[in-house]
Amino acid sequence: MSDEAAVHTAIVWDGPRHARAEERTPPGPLGPGAVRVRVTSAGVCGTDIAVWSGQAARGRPGTVLGHEFGGRVIARADDVAGVGAAGVAIHDLVAVDPNVSCGTCAHCGRGHRARCAGRRLMGVDLDGGFQRTVDVPAAQLVPVPGADPRALGLVEPLAVGVHAVARAGVADGDRLGVIGGGPIGMASVVEARRRGADRTVLESDETRRTAIARTGAAAVAAGGWPDRGLDAVIDTVGRAATVRAALDAVRDGGTVCVVGLSHDDHLPPPDQLVRRELTLVGSFCYSTADLRVAAQLVIGQGLDTVPVELTTGLERIPGLLDRIGGGRMGRGKALVVPRAEGPTG
Ligand SMILES: [Zn+2]
Ligand SMILES: [Zn+2]
Repeated sequence: MSDEAAVHTAIVWDGPRHARAEERTPPGPLGPGAVRVRVTSAGVCGTDIAVWSGQAARGRPGTVLGHEFGGRVIARADDVAGVGAAGVAIHDLVAVDPNVSCGTCAHCGRGHRARCAGRRLMGVDLDGGFQRTVDVPAAQLVPVPGADPRALGLVEPLAVGVHAVARAGVADGDRLGVIGGGPIGMASVVEARRRGADRTVLESDETRRTAIARTGAAAVAAGGWPDRGLDAVIDTVGRAATVRAALDAVRDGGTVCVVGLSHDDHLPPPDQLVRRELTLVGSFCYSTADLRVAAQLVIGQGLDTVPVELTTGLERIPGLLDRIGGGRMGRGKALVVPRAEGPTG
């Protein structure tokens, strides 16, 4: 038997600003409709920090954190014949949609699981992916055949960018602006490039601007926006000030898509939306189709899809949360691989 039967490390949230690595007893038999995934890659993001710090309204002490993850299928319940369009077999590589939804409402039927009224999020409301193996309802698997197993944790955050670009209506030849060069901003840039759009990112950090420039996008500091020169702007910050900056940057008839959640409540008055015929849309999570697009991006580009900072060892996640929660961001998306693993793992 492999080592996951002997030891099962999980990163458990204990309450505000405290997470710890716990050795749990290995999981028992799979429940109906479930698949067991050995995690090969997990991302740490702002939502994890919000839960960890106690700022999120949700989150239950004792929960295993992590909603951005993927790995290898190692077992499936007897009633799971195959998963996804082509079916998923033992040893296949998958990313996980962490949205647990009812599966029967109109939103779920259209692949918009994040819009389901009964939605719960793994890693926040339920145990998540910061553990050696995770049991997941088969309907939540996204096949990522042939990908670098270390990059599977990128599929979920990339899908957020894929969805934002779709919500912004970005088409071939459009000029897209993105406010914020963090992981969601970079994911939006990657998807906008795939769609053939021209990309400009507003980012205050010089190191990040250098990384952005390497992706073929223009990177500008505050003040570097073309006034009313863009067809669409994606705001990954979501403050009233950044929404206002986005509205000032789009052309008449343009679209502003807000994907960041900053919880301040002074949005600009609607008069310029009316007079300039602007469209203001929100973007939350992703659809199943967006996850499939993100999977293709990760199959093609692996760890090079967006700038990544790779850490080995789940037990190092509490330290990462301390660091990022303390304001020390890395140079790229924080990605954790449970153990040293090659690109073909
Ligand atoms: Zn996330
Ligand atoms: Zn539903």
